[in-house]
Parts: sequence; structure tokens; C-alpha cells
Amino acid sequence: MATTQETTGARTGEQFLAGLRSEERDIWLEGERITDPSSHPKLEGAARSLARLFDLQHEDPETFLMESPDTGQPVSVTHVQPTSRKDLERRRIASKRIADATAGMMGRTPDYLNYTFACFAARSDVWARYGNEEGAANLVAYQKLMRDNDLSLTHTLINPQVDRSVPEAEQAAGEVSLHKVEDTENGILVRGARMLATLAPFADELAVYPGSDLRLQDGKYAICFAIPMTTPGLRFICRDSFSVDRDAWDYPLSTRFDEMDAVVIFDDVEIPQERIFLDGDPQLHTEVITDTHWRAHIIHQAMTRAWAKLEFAFGLGHTMADLTGVNRFDHVQEKLGELWSMLELTRAGVIAAEAGSFRAEDTDDWVPDERSFVALRGLMPKWIPRAIELLQLVGGGGFMATPSKADFANEALRPEIDKYFQARNADAERRTRAYRLAWDFVGSALAGRGELYERFYLSDSFRMTALAYVLADKEHPTELVEQFLRDE
Ligand SMILES: Cc1cc2nc3c(=O)[nH]c(=O)nc-3n(C[C@H](O)[C@H](O)[C@H](O)COP(=O)(O)OP(=O)(O)OC[C@H]3O[C@@H](n4cnc5c(N)ncnc54)[C@H](O)[C@@H]3O)c2cc1C
Repeated sequence: MATTQETTGARTGEQFLAGLRSEERDIWLEGERITDPSSHPKLEGAARSLARLFDLQHEDPETFLMESPDTGQPVSVTHVQPTSRKDLERRRIASKRIADATAGMMGRTPDYLNYTFACFAARSDVWARYGNEEGAANLVAYQKLMRDNDLSLTHTLINPQVDRSVPEAEQAAGEVSLHKVEDTENGILVRGARMLATLAPFADELAVYPGSDLRLQDGKYAICFAIPMTTPGLRFICRDSFSVDRDAWDYPLSTRFDEMDAVVIFDDVEIPQERIFLDGDPQLHTEVITDTHWRAHIIHQAMTRAWAKLEFAFGLGHTMADLTGVNRFDHVQEKLGELWSMLELTRAGVIAAEAGSFRAEDTDDWVPDERSFVALRGLMPKWIPRAIELLQLVGGGGFMATPSKADFANEALRPEIDKYFQARNADAERRTRAYRLAWDFVGSALAGRGELYERFYLSDSFRMTALAYVLADKEHPTELVEQFLRDE
């Protein structure tokens, strides 16, 4: 096993931040071009939180790192191409720690795309179908590159919302949705836009892979690739920042976890040949999602994060209710019990998927049993908004009785704050901090974005729950009915 000096292996937080600083990035936030997110007041908090995750892997290598099969260097275990249930458990333990450290508030920590590309590369046989051997080989090489250099990726799958009632090719003369324009000497030229790329200011590279089914005649929209964020012609327009330029005491989550979302514009971007994974085949475009078991793998990461987020929500609910003593009322207990039940069913769903995991087809790829994931994928967009509602019902007006850190520092106000903002079992400062933390989860701008994210980041709940019905095994349930419809 050769060790190479050209790869970094698992990076530190400082290496990660250094990689984000570049004059060549075309990322816009509130009218300003961002060249260094790590020092920008509206981005530095999230940059620091992500850097912390990179450092974490060096603090606990046993949990977070594995040996690269190619370089022998330590790399993130979330790049593993699982070949056993143990592998699934190992990467889930790492992802749970990542999600715990961010209270589940950052949906697109880099492990998300690490799972995706590990699963794609493990099933390069699927990508190689219909003569796409070169694309498949490019993808395998790319997964090694991102693994061995610990790259942070963003991805963009969904075309802009011009007209959802017609196919991509029929919207705005087919020009808005991302599409191939022509072959070039070194690759292909692409143009158009994609609706969102979360984590864009904190990513080294951008990945494009299928997000919707295409008609067979719409080959120019069937493109998959990954390119550096600095690629000429690539432009990102961010939404408003929900990071608050205040002390973390006042907004503990908004100051840390605004992972940012951006629209991606491809203004005649040349994709080099070696970065093209699929070019022009709508049939394969569908199959690389279904037949690589991507759904099972990615929901493994997504539900591990949801588990952490619900656990945090339950912790918040319990802390608030205990501070003011409302947890002695049985209907408050019922609300907290409902919160706990959601987290416990999520945990159970993750463990059940691992327990039922299996070797896929004739390959080494080890796949979670997706049944509980398909169920949770439809339910979670309803559960997390419900968790937020439950916390509001438990906290009542207490969210509004929350002086700022500056108020606490004011000597004239402090005696009255200490007297009138105390709780049954906590002084005014502890009560206020707990309620401010909870507000940042249920009511701040970042909280609102988080709720929207949960409703939509894996498509919508309606279509996902409908898909659960379509995918459900109906044989045994039907037989239970049939036994009573037969003549004795
Ligand atoms: C905070 C946030 C972050 C995101 N980050 C990313 C990211 O990093 N990368 C990425 O690729 N995507 C990202 N997304 C986009 C996400 O994938 C989409 O929001 C999701 O696929 C839903 O698509 P849409 O938003 O275009 O909504 P639409 O599809 O336009 O849906 C709007 C409404 O119309 C209904 N509807 C639309 N079409 C149909 C249909 N055919 N049948 C029935 N009902 C329909 C929907 O149910 C919904 O009620 C993010 C979204 C959010 C909110």
C-alpha cells in the first residue's frame, strides 16, 4: 500500500478553512462577493462549527477515521463503502457524533455527500451500464479523490421552480434548467441553473447528480459531474444570512449553524472529461439512483441526523418544562412523551435498517434495509415541525421573557432581572439562556429555515409518503385479508 504525499488524508479545521479562501469563487451574499467565509461576519460562525468537525476527527480517530485503502492515510470513516453491518454501524456512530455536535441543525455536514459518493462508487457497475464505462471510472476516481483529500462537497439536484407542471425541456424554452450545450475539446459545456446548493460557501466542490426522472427525449438534461467551486462560469447567489451578528449567548444556534443555501448558475461552464460521470442518457440517469441503493444509504445519514435533532428537541423540552415546573402537568408530560416517542422511533428505525441490512445483488455493497427509512422519510417532514410546535406549547410566553446578554450586563437592570426572571430551580441567567436556546430552535429566522429544510430537503412529505405506499410489500398484508375471503 503506497502512501502518497499528494493527498492530505483527514484534514484539520484550519486546513479546511484555508481551502475555502479564494479570490476565484463567485459567491454572492446580500450584494457582496465572498472570498473568505471564515472571516465574514455572516458566515464565520458556521465556518468555525464546520472546522470544529474536521478537528473532532483528529481528537477521536477511533470513532471518526479509517485507513484509506489506497494511500494508507487516515480518512473519514463516513467515506466507507460498507461491506458489512459493522461498517454501517461504524459510520452511523461517526455521523451521530457529528449531528450531536451540531444539534442536528446542519443538514449537509460533509458526511452527507460522503455517503452518496461511497455508495455510487461501490456500484460503479450500475454507472457503467449502456456503454458508460468511462463515466463510471471517472466516478470511482473522484470518490477516491474526495475521500483521500477530505473534500467538503455541496450538491445541487433540483432545477428552478419556473413551471413545475411541465418537464424541464418545456420550461422557459428549456434554457433555465441545467443542460448540456455542446461537446468541447476537453469535455462538455453546460448552461442553466439549479435551485439550491446548501453549504455552498463552505464547500470545496459542487456535485450534480440526478434529482428527478427525465423523459427519454430529454438527454441534454441528463448530466452528472463534480467540479471545483472555483470553476469559471460557476456563480452562487445565497439567500439572506440567518446568522446573527450577536454574542452566542443571545443566539446560540444562529451564531453557529447557518449552513447557508444558494442558487447555482452555470454560465457556460466547461466540465472536464475526467469529471463527467454521466452524459446524455436519461434511462441511466434514473437507474443510478434506484439501482445503487442510494436511497437506503443517504437516508441512513439523514435519519441519524434527525435522531440527534429530535433528541436535542426532547432535551430542550424537558429542560424548559423542568425549569418552570410545568412537567408536573400530565398534558405537558404527554407532549414531552410524544417528542420522546418520535426520537425513539427514529432511533429504532435506524437500528432496524442496520439489523436487516444485506449484501446487494452480486456485489460487496452492504445496504441498509430501507423499509423503516422509507417510512421515516415521509414522516420526518411532519414530525420535526410537530416537535417545534410541541416545544412552543411547552414554553408558552417564556420565549419572550428573555433579556439579552447586554441587559444582564447592565448594573441598573440586573437586580430586577435576577428577581423577575428566575425559575423554580434556576437563576435568571440559566432560565433565560435555556429559553433563548429553545427560541433559536423554534422561532428565530434560522429556526424557520430549519423547519422548511426538514419539510423539503428530501423532496416533499406528500410524494414520499405516497412512495411508501407504492414501495410497500403488499403480499403478506393482502394474504391476511384474503384468508377471510376464501370459502372454507
Ligand atoms: C432549506 C432547503 C435546502 C435545500 N438544499 C438543497 C441542496 O443542497 N441541494 C439540492 O439539490 N436541493 C436542495 N433543496 C431543494 C429540495 O431538494 C427541494 O426543495 C425539494 O426537492 C422540493 O422541490 P421544490 O422546492 O422545487 O418544490 P416543488 O417541487 O416546486 O413543490 C412545491 C409544492 O408543489 C407540490 N408539487 C410540485 N410538483 C409536484 C408534483 N409533480 N406532484 C405533486 N405535487 C407537486 C409539492 O408537493 C409542494 O407542495 C433544499 C430545499 C430547502 C428548502
